[in-house]
Amino acid sequence: LRMVSSQPIGNEPVSDEELRPHVLDGFIGQPQLKAQLRLFLDAARKRETPPDHILLAGPPGLGKTTLAMIVANELEVPIRITSGPAIQHAGDLASILSSLEPGEVLFVDEVHRLPRAAEELLYIAMEDFRVDVMVGKGPGASSIPLTLPRFTMIGATTREGMLPSPLRARFGFTAHLDFYPHEELEKLVERSAGVLGLELGQDAAHELALRSRGTPRIANRLLRRVRDWVIVHDLPRAEAEDVRQALALYQIDEEGLDRLDIAVLNAIVRNFQGGPVGLNTLAAMVGEESETVETVCEPYLVREGFLIRTPKGRVAMPKAWQHLGMRPNEDDVN
Ligand code: ADP
Repeated sequence: LRMVSSQPIGNEPVSDEELRPHVLDGFIGQPQLKAQLRLFLDAARKRETPPDHILLAGPPGLGKTTLAMIVANELEVPIRITSGPAIQHAGDLASILSSLEPGEVLFVDEVHRLPRAAEELLYIAMEDFRVDVMVGKGPGASSIPLTLPRFTMIGATTREGMLPSPLRARFGFTAHLDFYPHEELEKLVERSAGVLGLELGQDAAHELALRSRGTPRIANRLLRRVRDWVIVHDLPRAEAEDVRQALALYQIDEEGLDRLDIAVLNAIVRNFQGGPVGLNTLAAMVGEESETVETVCEPYLVREGFLIRTPKGRVAMPKAWQHLGMRPNEDDVN
């Protein structure tokens, strides 16, 4: 279990709920996206028709589910939540669709993972508000068209490139969520601390934001660990130093790197003089699956400029050497 994972861990889906803002004004950051969505929702309200379908694209933990729930709440309509992998047969989707109430929001997380047959059913449902229900089996089977009430589909995806273009084309509005800058994460941490009843001293939110990898879910998780620290030590509030100590206990450093990230950087820098080193060799050095290194560690290390991927393998950038207290092409200082 990685503290800095952007996916929920343990029973977090439950604790995520507690910290979700319910109105658009409570959603921190992403100002452009919020302004677009605000206009989109206001127009739908004025027209008194459900808005067009919405696609939310971006990495895990940045607020896609939260936004979907905010949309439903702002429109005062119910929301049905499902996900691509949860729908195994087209029939599963047909029964959800045929039970939607007028105006209801249908949220499909990981929409790029819908089975093919369900996807095709969805095209018709999104475009014509109709679903063809199959009755009977074999040569005698027939399909009965069923008219659906107008609803708003909200799809979320971490892999926009994997969406078939006919599906993508059926969304009237696509929102891209980006990693949050530190200032926005600070605000988010302050808001969450308020909800949790935790008082933060000066710069505590800043220290937390630095370690959160641009990701609200991680910020909220680290904040809960800081709250544990404050409770156990009977402190009136969390000071910046408490944040540093509590998160050092979980081996998360001031750049948000954890033990595994550091092991990867160490392997490249110390064992391979900065690389290039192949993914499999690297994974073996740190005792992890290649896939874990590639999908869990590397995206953040690459994004933050610690390493680059080249055709010959992974290469450590000067920032990686610096972070380990070394200079490029210099022997181990220790
Ligand atoms: P996703 O669906 O993209 O994986 P979630 O919507 O589940 O992410 O968000 C994860 C957690 O982070 C939730 O507790 C959510 O309330 C919080 N969160 C995400 N974005 C924001 C934001 N912009 N403002 C406040 N809280 C946020």
